[in-house]
Amino acid sequence: MTYQYWDQKMETLPRSGLEAYQLAQLKKAVACALRTGFYRKRLHDAGIHGEEDIKTLADLRRIPFTTKHDLRSGFPFGFLSIPKENVVRLHASSGTTGTPTTIYFNKEDIRRWTSFVARSIYATGCNSADVFQNMITYGLFTGGLGFHYGGEEVGMLVIPSGAGNTARQFKLMQDFGTTVVHATPSFLLHVEAKMREEGVTRESLRLKKAFAGAEPYSEDTRRRIENLLNIDVYNSYGLSEMNGPGVAFECQCKNGLHLWEDGFIPEIVNPDTLEPLPEGETGELVLTCLCREAAPILRYRTRDLSGFYTESCPCGRTHRRLRRITGRTDDMLIINGVNLFPSQIEEVIMSIKEAGNNYLIAVEKDGVMDRLTVKTEVNRDIFMDDTRPLNALRERIRKTLQASITINPRVELHESGSLPVSEGKAKRVLDTRPKDV
Ligand code: ADP
Ligand code: ZN
Repeated sequence: MTYQYWDQKMETLPRSGLEAYQLAQLKKAVACALRTGFYRKRLHDAGIHGEEDIKTLADLRRIPFTTKHDLRSGFPFGFLSIPKENVVRLHASSGTTGTPTTIYFNKEDIRRWTSFVARSIYATGCNSADVFQNMITYGLFTGGLGFHYGGEEVGMLVIPSGAGNTARQFKLMQDFGTTVVHATPSFLLHVEAKMREEGVTRESLRLKKAFAGAEPYSEDTRRRIENLLNIDVYNSYGLSEMNGPGVAFECQCKNGLHLWEDGFIPEIVNPDTLEPLPEGETGELVLTCLCREAAPILRYRTRDLSGFYTESCPCGRTHRRLRRITGRTDDMLIINGVNLFPSQIEEVIMSIKEAGNNYLIAVEKDGVMDRLTVKTEVNRDIFMDDTRPLNALRERIRKTLQASITINPRVELHESGSLPVSEGKAKRVLDTRPKDV
């Protein structure tokens, strides 16, 4: 395979050069941070008064962690390091886990962010001949404008379709010959189910690729989308605290996400002790933003769980690859004392061919015990007078789940299209247990 690079020098820079670059950028980021209300005190308390106090990359560890709680406490301008008249844009996180947090950009920040997204898109083999339909929420959410600018930078024709309205999405795809889409994996599964329902054949489309991100999904989900739509799906990772999309992205090898280390310094720590973990182990990803002046964020605890592949990538890029993010530390459910990540259930559902593209996890109290119910859609044809195939499938799903998660769930089968669909990040878990128990 031949690989194309947006910025070959930077993408293939030997590690020593990359680290020297990171150190120079870290000094700048610390200097910016010292101009914010929030970090001035934090850094002074840690004995850091100027960029000269950062002598090596190891000095990063002298800087205290920043949490989502800190960002909220600094709302609205505690993290702003430049005069307000130089700010050109704000974005906010989706607020999946509480009050959204706000991030600011100056012109140069937007330019740099755009180039990271362009680099990511280009790494998947796209070019200016592509037609790119951005099927994600525009607005405060970074996925809309972030990908929009990146796509234009690559020179693609960008269709700002936004999320939702599958009928309109199909029409746009057919009218303009869309070759690439960006969406959440759950919306892609919904699109595919709708295509079958409405008789839209994949031959009537020119679709070749999809960028899927903004929420965790398993390798089985990727394969399902790829097989059903006959396209390549690339994993896209980002978060508003680190600009948005364009933090880590899969290249054409589709085996882990290159984290752009000239823009971000990653660390993997034990989420309980906050100590660094040996290379290759799974833990909480901590990120330092090296590419934003307006709102610097240092050592941000993402709560996302991942780790690095230790071997190098055939594409020749020197930026390390993250493993698929399995979820957030705060996604973990404890069911009758057993720890469970929703992604473990997703993996099983997606590995069963007859199980549908949409599912829901319900947790409730049943007396003193917790009860787990997994609701999954199945094809309509199975709901016939003869209930035996339905019962057999339900039992098979239950057994496979139990073997994998060691909890015996109830399984409900629903007709395809009957479970709620979310246009943005999917809401898969409905936990109605009282919070204080
Ligand atoms: P919020 O924290 O409110 O969801 P964002 O919109 O900034 O705010 O979303 C960023 C989060 O989305 C990440 O921290 C991560 O949990 C999740 N995410 C983004 N991309 C992926 C991906 N490819 N795989 C798994 N999770 C992802
Ligand atoms: Zn690669």
